[in-house]
Amino acid sequence: MSARLRVDPIACEAHGLCAELFPERIALDDWGYPIVDPAPFDGELVGHARRAVAACPRVALILDEDDPPQR
Ligand code: SF4
Repeated sequence: MSARLRVDPIACEAHGLCAELFPERIALDDWGYPIVDPAPFDGELVGHARRAVAACPRVALILDEDDPPQR
């Protein structure tokens, strides 16, 4: 399984919470908007990414997973 993060730049309001929760792949620019590393990742980083996605107050952080877990 691999996953990638992306940001909806229209919805994002630069709260910066995502960068606090997932600093391994998200930095902030000078205005507080996220700069997301586009490289795929897996393992425990996926859990960190899911936590950041769930915490985004604008639902602007999107996690694309190739093989999402069965529910
Ligand atoms: S937490 Fe959401 S709204 Fe805030 S900077 Fe990150 S993507 Fe944007």
